[in-house]
Amino acid sequence: MRDEHGQDYIDLSSGFSVSNLGHRHPNVLKAISEQMALYLHTTVYGEHLQSPQLQLAQILRSVLPESLDCFYFLNTGSETIDAVFKIARLHKPGCRIAACRQAYHGSTLAAESLRSDKGHSAAFRPLVPGILQLGFNEENELDQLVEDIGVIILEVVQAEAGVIKANPEWLYQLREKCKQMNILLCFDEIQTGIGRTGSLYAFQQYGIIPDLLLTGKALGSGLPISAVVGSSVHIGLLASKPGLSYLSTFGGNPLSAAAAAATLRTLMDQNLSSRAIVIEEFFTSELKKYSRIASIRSAGALISIDMSTTVKSLELLALAFQSKLLMESFLFAPQCVRIAPPLIISDSELELVIERLVVCLKKL
Ligand code: PLP
Repeated sequence: MRDEHGQDYIDLSSGFSVSNLGHRHPNVLKAISEQMALYLHTTVYGEHLQSPQLQLAQILRSVLPESLDCFYFLNTGSETIDAVFKIARLHKPGCRIAACRQAYHGSTLAAESLRSDKGHSAAFRPLVPGILQLGFNEENELDQLVEDIGVIILEVVQAEAGVIKANPEWLYQLREKCKQMNILLCFDEIQTGIGRTGSLYAFQQYGIIPDLLLTGKALGSGLPISAVVGSSVHIGLLASKPGLSYLSTFGGNPLSAAAAAATLRTLMDQNLSSRAIVIEEFFTSELKKYSRIASIRSAGALISIDMSTTVKSLELLALAFQSKLLMESFLFAPQCVRIAPPLIISDSELELVIERLVVCLKKL
């Protein structure tokens, strides 16, 4: 990335896990310009099919488990959370909704209602009532999932908590509990999707299939697009009683859908999910040599460097910025610094990053 003074920076945050293919990837630009020459908007209610949406759905269907074969396209991650609230209420009228503490699901009022840091959400009261908060990876709290819960929404890897992975045994128990209680299991992979953690979606590393999957951010490589994915039974709930239950003028707009189809094709052709693992191994092995770092947690190319105090992490971010490295912090882990570069980062760029980062760490 280049600033107004012509200074070059290495992007190590990917605009919060959006630019997985880097910036202005030629395949994405080509798809956008071809679609631009055709049409930008035709309809809202789905009176006719739009081929970019159809192609995108076909690609997603070919790479996801069979039960996840129905797609409802929207624009942003937060909107998919609102859609899940509606699906849950249609699935189980009047139901309560469950989420995990320390999760970030977006900023609409529904998503805000899922936040566990009440210091933030208090300003927006009254929030959506009837939210149950569970501890992430807390097996002894699963009993709170009782019959009047319609859905549990969670991240497989809690990104903003500083990269906390779900414990496989806990996730397995959660899957079983949801089956017993007829609760929809919804994985929010808005931040962890599109190759970031080493597979197209993080849940694919667990062998556990959710009822609903949320995707967004990197899906459109910088153009807004998101999707709620599930079986036709669950997604179809939005189509009846009442019909048109969730409308969006621009959801899945043709330009974004074309960008998303090109993004997925490129990701798979270039096997960029495996590149995420190479990036992870590079950073973890290089950085573990430095005693100034308290610990490192990672899920593919989503890496959290725990500096033990907020003061130290802010200092490292400032030094990195002076060294032309764009790094970020986490919403709920101020003592940690985030490294989440585009998956197309080259080996020589990785070497350059570590060279600069080591100088910064030594200055601390
Ligand atoms: N869910 C997760 C896990 C996220 O990280 C985010 C955004 O950071 C969202 C949902 C909200 O997405 P958006 O900002 O596109 O509404």
